[in-house]
Amino acid sequence: MSWDKIKKAKQQLSREQGTIIKDWGGRIPIALIYPNAYYIGMSNLGLHAIYSLLNSYSEVVCERAFWGRDNRAEQLPPLSLESQRPLSDFAVLAFSITYELDYFNVVQILRASGIPLYAADRDERHPLVIAGGPCIIANPLPLSPFFDCLCIGEAEPILPAMLPILSEGIGDKRDELLKELASLPGAYVPLASSGTPVVRQWASSLDDFPTTSTILTPDTELGNLYLIEVERGCNWGCRFCLVSNAFRPMRFRSIDKLIAQAKLGLKYRRRIGLVGPAVSDYPQLEELLVKLRQMGAGLSISSLRVKPLSRIVLREMAKGGARTITLAPEAGSQRLRQVIRKGVSEDDILESIGKVAEEGIKQLKLYFMIGLPSETDEDIEAIIKLALSGKNILDRQQPGCRLSLNIAPFVPKAGTSFQWLPMTQPSILNRRLSLLKNSLAPKGIKVKSESPAWSQVQGILARGDIKLAKVLASIEEVSLAGWRKAVEKCHLDIDFYAHQRWDTSEKLPWAILDLGTESGHLKAELNRAIGQDTYKKLDKA
Ligand code: SF4
Repeated sequence: MSWDKIKKAKQQLSREQGTIIKDWGGRIPIALIYPNAYYIGMSNLGLHAIYSLLNSYSEVVCERAFWGRDNRAEQLPPLSLESQRPLSDFAVLAFSITYELDYFNVVQILRASGIPLYAADRDERHPLVIAGGPCIIANPLPLSPFFDCLCIGEAEPILPAMLPILSEGIGDKRDELLKELASLPGAYVPLASSGTPVVRQWASSLDDFPTTSTILTPDTELGNLYLIEVERGCNWGCRFCLVSNAFRPMRFRSIDKLIAQAKLGLKYRRRIGLVGPAVSDYPQLEELLVKLRQMGAGLSISSLRVKPLSRIVLREMAKGGARTITLAPEAGSQRLRQVIRKGVSEDDILESIGKVAEEGIKQLKLYFMIGLPSETDEDIEAIIKLALSGKNILDRQQPGCRLSLNIAPFVPKAGTSFQWLPMTQPSILNRRLSLLKNSLAPKGIKVKSESPAWSQVQGILARGDIKLAKVLASIEEVSLAGWRKAVEKCHLDIDFYAHQRWDTSEKLPWAILDLGTESGHLKAELNRAIGQDTYKKLDKA
């Protein structure tokens, strides 16, 4: 046992407010694991929600564990934060997985903790290993051999039915427990699957499950905010987006509950962060912001759509101390925005930039994707033109307001209308990124980007099947070189997963799930997006 690790955990705990410490006696100990660093995980509202939900049951004690830089460098087994116990002491390990590239960390955590990696090699002497989160909901296959149970949907409707089974069955024969779990709605149990698609579960009334910061700490990216979830799902239907397809329907919390939660939050933090996929869609947003301001709250909003973008919302945010506004046009040309169904025009984007300037905001961030289906160099030129027009507006109306661009390569996600489409080759993405950077940096526009090489890995995992588990298990070192070595060793055809257009008539690996969106709808949307001519272009690219 590392005394340094224990000391560090205690220091981290001493800076937290809201930590839940429970006695283990007679309770099911569950380790809630975020497979990345504390700094990143503690800004994830989903993690807070599950921690609070699990600990709300008297028969459960839930403690958190992370995979920090020290763990990674020395393959040190993670300890739970609250009682500094090794993961092997817990009855259940519950992973919260939000990002495909964290799959590498899942494998490392199990290995470092001395827990057999494959579910088939574990028995009642080992913890039951379960997972949930957006990546799992979309496509659990690359990780499926490592897990006893994967939760397809939101935790709120799944956990109440799962906990009695765990209470009864932990310690009994593992195959009996797995059979019981497999009978639950939303539970995918790879070793006991009947083959019937697992139906995604979602909470019908969000007000029954408050989702706010549970633990406050300065040691995280959004540490100065008290976070409150205002909504789930999104109705806009952008064709690349998992939220619009796999998190339906759109649901809102009532304004009275949000105000009450903010009142509580203001005891701990001066600023309230409103979280949701498109917070500007919240029907009473203006009223909510005015009330929060009257309560003395500083404000931050996780996501605003280009349109509609209300001046009142921007004004209240500016008065509430918001210094940065983020908007996501996603594509530079009108043609490409239509392909992805973004639903905003160039005039809408420039008008919104003008509104941001008028309200005296100090920084504007614009999010774009490159490598979108049917993209050409002309679409990149259109991003450059749009960014320069935006900069002109800011310079004219609000000199000193900084403009920056965040560029992410398009990654086709399972469960979306673009799931059948290929990613663009990293060499082309790199060239287009250079074009953007070389054109915009001299004009004072900062361009930040995700790595095309790692995005390719993400794309392979996002559309991966069970063969990817073998690659993940073969990785000796988490690096691009380590990944490539494992791919070669396992003879994985990366071109098939990342760069080939898949036939829409073939069965998809993740057809084992029923996300609630008809495959016919996704195909129709794909056809609307990409006509025959564009397909020809794609084949040539
Ligand atoms: S508006 Fe945002 S969250 Fe909604 S579908 Fe489009 S990309 Fe997804």
